[in-house]
Amino acid sequence: MAGERAHDWDGSYAGPQPAPWDIGRPQAAFEELAAGGGLVGRVLDIGCGTGEHALMAAALGQEVLGIDWAPRAIEAARTKAAARGLVTATFTVGDVLDLQHRQDRFDTVLDCGLWHGLADDERPRLLGGLATVLHPGGRYHLLCCSDRFPGGWGPRRISEADLRASFSLDGGDEWRIERIEATTLALTIDPPEMAAWHATVVRR
Ligand code: SAH
Repeated sequence: MAGERAHDWDGSYAGPQPAPWDIGRPQAAFEELAAGGGLVGRVLDIGCGTGEHALMAAALGQEVLGIDWAPRAIEAARTKAAARGLVTATFTVGDVLDLQHRQDRFDTVLDCGLWHGLADDERPRLLGGLATVLHPGGRYHLLCCSDRFPGGWGPRRISEADLRASFSLDGGDEWRIERIEATTLALTIDPPEMAAWHATVVRR
């Protein structure tokens, strides 16, 4: 089941055109996060795609692991890392719903565009894994499509109330919401951007 979905995602990296989200640079919201010193310690980028956010962290000298289940995306990320000489970035093919089995631990988790693709029952699974791999006090930063994005195209819309519920109900007392702010995500298509949320949650 996961295999089929992974295959579908991999196909979005096969075409001559980049995927709608694959803009070839970091999203502005995560650039601001980096500029403000938000990428601390060891960084994990879940659903890293072709790696722009992980590579941004590596360019700042951080140790970073990017995980994506699409082999083409990971290959592209490794090629970029080599071309840019960014040796502190590692990329691996894997399912981010299996994080609880990992031995390594992180201080910062980045998620650009993964959360809004998860089914309801996958969210607690992801959060359980993140609670395992994030040190206490570590932060999970996520950018997801918001319900303020009009039209029918695109990922599932997420309301602020839905986000809050995910981290208070499903997340139990393991998470504290630090901020939820409206932002935008740039796209390679028309429309050129989508309304999004930038949420930061702290692992207690
Ligand atoms: N963060 C990247 C890619 C966003 S698109 C960027 O900003 O460009 C979402 C990515 O999550 C896709 O690359 C998809 O392959 C990956 N993904 C979705 N579900 C996943 C899962 N369960 N495990 C690993 N990767 C997953």
